[in-house]
Amino acid sequence: MTPFLDLKAINAAHRSDLLAAFERVLDSGWYVMGQELQAFEAEYAAWCGAAHCVGVGNGLEALTLVLRAWGIGPGDEVIVPANTYIATWLAVTHVGATPVPVEPDERSFNIDPALIEAAITPRTRALLPVHLYGRPAEMAPILDSARRHGLRVLEDGAQAHGALYRGQRLGAHGDAVAWSFYPGKNLGALGDGGAITTNDAALAERLRVLRNYGSRVKYRNEAIGWNSRLDELQAALLRCKLPALEAENQHRAAVAHQYLQGLQGLQHCGLMLPQLPAEATSSSAWHLFVVRHPERDRLATALAGAGVGTVIHYPQAPHLQPAYAGLGLAAGTLPISERLHAQVLSLPIGPTQTAAQTEAVVAALRAAVGAPARPRHDAVTA
Ligand SMILES: *Cc1c(COP(=O)(O)O)cnc(C)c1O
Repeated sequence: MTPFLDLKAINAAHRSDLLAAFERVLDSGWYVMGQELQAFEAEYAAWCGAAHCVGVGNGLEALTLVLRAWGIGPGDEVIVPANTYIATWLAVTHVGATPVPVEPDERSFNIDPALIEAAITPRTRALLPVHLYGRPAEMAPILDSARRHGLRVLEDGAQAHGALYRGQRLGAHGDAVAWSFYPGKNLGALGDGGAITTNDAALAERLRVLRNYGSRVKYRNEAIGWNSRLDELQAALLRCKLPALEAENQHRAAVAHQYLQGLQGLQHCGLMLPQLPAEATSSSAWHLFVVRHPERDRLATALAGAGVGTVIHYPQAPHLQPAYAGLGLAAGTLPISERLHAQVLSLPIGPTQTAAQTEAVVAALRAAVGAPARPRHDAVTA
């Protein structure tokens, strides 16, 4: 059996630390906006190589609060990837602005930098690239476009904790990065959580006010704020898991390389594998390992029959969701994204997945696409 993601096993590896952290918070008598949050913010900012970290309630609110802090609202446009989790678009909609989708580069699944300039209008205020599936977006050309047109860059890092772009962890390549600590992310809490990292001290200060009722001093409200805080318990639990994140990501990378080796050369069977980032100094956080096949649904059924869990990220593009019917983007308007949504399949990957479990996925997938079984001596030892 290879489950898609074994959250229980992932957190069991931290069990005694998590229990100690729970007791520490319980006994402190202080549950919101305290020392655990402050300590986590300092530790996560340092880990990401960013000057500031502001903890918030979840990833969607991290994105939304940054757009609001920049004063983006009705009449403004924000450029988003056509293929992403819908939260990226929702943040733009929640501040009253319009998401303007740009198609991906099929090789990376990420927003195609070459298509961004054509989508920029006088109303464009920001670019919102997503590091989809853990692979860093092409930040250099994205930042070039932003500088040329005087736009801000907000990165959606929800799937990419620890990914490297040109030798540096994500965290401050753009003007701000929004993070999610939803349980299934590479750095996952035991509930909802989120944060923003940035090198911009004024932005960090504004976010601290906005997340807390628009208040710096209790009962004095200077802005129309939210209640969006990373609570003490989740901050304490995340502090237990952060020191292991690099090793957990390296384990994910080993799983990915076992897949890449075991499934290579099957283009003639219709199987397309994810590509590695182009630059030697960049690397994916391997949040997801996503393959493509014209008969994706048949493969998912065959794998389920062999005891292998898979998930589709995502079955429907945001512009075709009922929620976005109002944008009037009919089927066929974003063909690359639509084709990807019809073909992608996420294989199991995680920090506790064993080499034998990965090998079982390779064998089941090879059989499903009609490829010969691998000779025994090929079986990987990782
Ligand atoms: C998970 C996710 C989010 C939203 O994070 P939440 O904490 O669940 O609100 C945003 N963008 C992407 C790409 C995500 O994967």
